[in-house]
Amino acid sequence: MAEYDYDLFVIGAGSGGVRAARVSAAHGAKVAIAEEYRVGGTCVIRGCVPKKLLVYGAHFAEDLKDARRFGWNVPEPCEFDWATLRDNVLSEVDRLNKAYSQTLDSHGVEMILERATVSGPNEVTLASGRTVRAERILIATGARPSVPPCPGHEHGITSNEVFHLDRLPKRILIAGAGYIANEFAGIFNQFGTKVTLINRSDVILRGYDESIRDRLLQISMTKGIDFRFHAEFRGIEKMDDGCLRVSMTNHEDMVVDCVLFATGRVPNTEGLGLAEAGVEIDAKGAVKVDADNRSAVESIYAVGDVTNRVQLTPVAIREGQAFADTIYGGKPTRVDYDCIPAAVFSHPPMAGVGMTEGEAKNRLGSVKVYTSDFRAMKDVLADRHERALYKMVCDATNDRVVGLHMIGPDAPEILQAAAVAVKAGLTKADFDNTVALHPSMAEELVLLK
Ligand code: NDP
Repeated sequence: MAEYDYDLFVIGAGSGGVRAARVSAAHGAKVAIAEEYRVGGTCVIRGCVPKKLLVYGAHFAEDLKDARRFGWNVPEPCEFDWATLRDNVLSEVDRLNKAYSQTLDSHGVEMILERATVSGPNEVTLASGRTVRAERILIATGARPSVPPCPGHEHGITSNEVFHLDRLPKRILIAGAGYIANEFAGIFNQFGTKVTLINRSDVILRGYDESIRDRLLQISMTKGIDFRFHAEFRGIEKMDDGCLRVSMTNHEDMVVDCVLFATGRVPNTEGLGLAEAGVEIDAKGAVKVDADNRSAVESIYAVGDVTNRVQLTPVAIREGQAFADTIYGGKPTRVDYDCIPAAVFSHPPMAGVGMTEGEAKNRLGSVKVYTSDFRAMKDVLADRHERALYKMVCDATNDRVVGLHMIGPDAPEILQAAAVAVKAGLTKADFDNTVALHPSMAEELVLLK
């Protein structure tokens, strides 16, 4: 009898787990993957994908208004139906869920749709009680929303539930001021919900370039989103009429219809049997791994959000790919974490790569900063007054572009291409030597003074 049932057993069929399973199988490994919820993970099922579709849906609020300035006869009032968008988005999620399952299937990966826990360095126990043995185990269980433990927190929802709302709330309070909070603040505001965003500190999107996030704050306020800072949750009380009374530090109570917690995400390591098997877990609950994704136990590896390195889908995918290529593909590969572009799909969106101005000043000492503060051509005709802001941060000693940060229409689309140049270590002169593509917003990048 073979010593192991599988070469590789993957726990968690999200972005990182699916990539690792599929590529390992393509390299010839006998692979099984366990998933307790739905194949696809956070990004596909309750994150990036459905969120981006809601962002598109929300943007029509402005597009339809602007269309009148471009000669289109758009009826007033122009109504939005949440249930139509929600159901269409959820069916697209179903389609992707099936496509992910088919990919695993076509690569010969055995799918086990139940919860799996680690019961030894080479053993996994399934919810049904069956145990299987694998030469290697890969933990790819992702992360889940973290909710501050205040009285009545159970009356709030998280990004897991927000895609399934029966109806749009008239008033929503969003807790947190990071990615999810700002993205959903924009979405709900465009749908006509009164949005209040509260945060314990006095900044939004800590870690992003200061002038870019200040611009988002200013535009969001102009669009009607309220912000409350230095506000920590005291509690949520459900009233007789179903409304929620929220109390917080430093501010008056608020009555709303929905509370959305967007206060960070914690790695899914609880109850997985990891510590018992000898896997080291850090203070935040993440699996500690080395540069080759290996945990403290030689046969157990981890990729993606469960390791809490960079909580982004494309990073988890790269980690899964690197794991498979290194272990089963005969091609040792490590993920390069330098210059990872990221975006916030707020209204308008923002995106950045490399060092912020503040980081560059601290790390390099002498920096040169170039900005373009402009109104997009389309916004001028639409009589829309918000301004885009692009910022290029250069190392003053050699002109190298070390950071690029932007807010404005299509910023993530533009930044992805420009990130190639930043990653490649190009200089401001290289940008200047490129002829502008006119008229476009992206041309500002080669015209910075
Ligand atoms: P973020 O880490 O972006 O932001 C968390 C926010 O919650 C911060 O404003 C933070 O405040 C606040 N906060 C944290 N802990 C508490 C607490 N105990 N009580 C009150 N407030 C708290 O988390 P998100 O939940 O928005 O997103 C999680 C991760 O998912 C992101 O970091 C990102 O990696 C990923 N993501 C990426 C997206 C994208 O690429 N577009 C979209 C959505 C998510 P403070 O400012 O004080 O720290």
